[in-house]
Amino acid sequence: MESILAYQMTAKDKPFEQVTLPWPKVGEDEALVKIAGCGVCHTDLSFWHYGVPTRHELPLVLGHEISGTVVEGPAALKGKPVIIPAVLPCGECELCKNDRSNICQNQKMPGNDFHGGFASHIAVPARYAVPVPDAAMASHSLAELSVIADAVSTPYQVIVKSGLKAGDFAIVIGVGGIGIYAAQLANILGAKVLAIDIDPQKLDQLAAIGITSTINPKGLDFKELKKQVKSACKEMGASPFGWKIFETSGTKPGQELAFGLLGIAGVLSIVGFTLDKLEVRLSNLMAFDAQLIGTWGCKPELYPDVIDLVAKGTLQLKPFTETFALSKINDIFQQTLEHKLLKRSVLVPDAAGN
Ligand SMILES: [Zn+2]
Ligand SMILES: [Zn+2]
Repeated sequence: MESILAYQMTAKDKPFEQVTLPWPKVGEDEALVKIAGCGVCHTDLSFWHYGVPTRHELPLVLGHEISGTVVEGPAALKGKPVIIPAVLPCGECELCKNDRSNICQNQKMPGNDFHGGFASHIAVPARYAVPVPDAAMASHSLAELSVIADAVSTPYQVIVKSGLKAGDFAIVIGVGGIGIYAAQLANILGAKVLAIDIDPQKLDQLAAIGITSTINPKGLDFKELKKQVKSACKEMGASPFGWKIFETSGTKPGQELAFGLLGIAGVLSIVGFTLDKLEVRLSNLMAFDAQLIGTWGCKPELYPDVIDLVAKGTLQLKPFTETFALSKINDIFQQTLEHKLLKRSVLVPDAAGN
């Protein structure tokens, strides 16, 4: 009898336990995916360390940033490399039918609603497995491509939602796991990108993808910072109006800065999450005819566009991704918690279940 190998979370801050789980029964609408890699996301840390409860009771296999190869399921997918979207909508409800499937209230998230990607295999709804073209595999391993499932697709959706167009001045606040792709995608789409982060190492890595306009706000008061942002905008030949601001730091200072920079015809997208509250003058939105938008996950239908950017060679994941053996999961979670890893970690199953 075949079984799958998985690492389960049993309790907050406790080491993940290696277990074998029964080989899943694959339903008619499902695909069984042999996992190539699963990215470690801040959300996993929220479950494991910060006390955010998973929707499915513990023990649970975490991980929602998954790529792999279909081993059982529809003939059209069998043997194909795929990405599994982090948010799997129901496809039937009012939200799904009105182009808002990413916020479907019946959505299922691997590693939250059911056993996720820190395992050798996973069964998922077949219709959402996004095939990966050969061209995307030429420059990246399938494991590396797993980060598309969340770190890349989430900022892509918000960029589309913000109405960003070529020539726009795009400000990305916080260039960590998500922000680095917000900056890179905005750049690829022709925006003039300014990155703001308090970590010089994070700003330095942007040069490799052609983003050289950066500001470290450490020690600057808001007035001075705004002056520097304005001059960066001018230097790049961008308009002083209609700035597209992406807050990806998920911190109170980041959000305060983002709101402070929002001006005439601007759009502020809130991509990062914090429980902290802000005191702001919302009437700025009225006075500036500006917009404040939120975003959750990414609609499965946008994934092929993102994968296409990798296939074309414009979107680079390699410089910001590092793979580790899945059996190192406890080390990697600890190191991620301690901010010791600059790149996003992808865990690769190193002993297939049998
Ligand atoms: Zn995530
Ligand atoms: Zn739905």
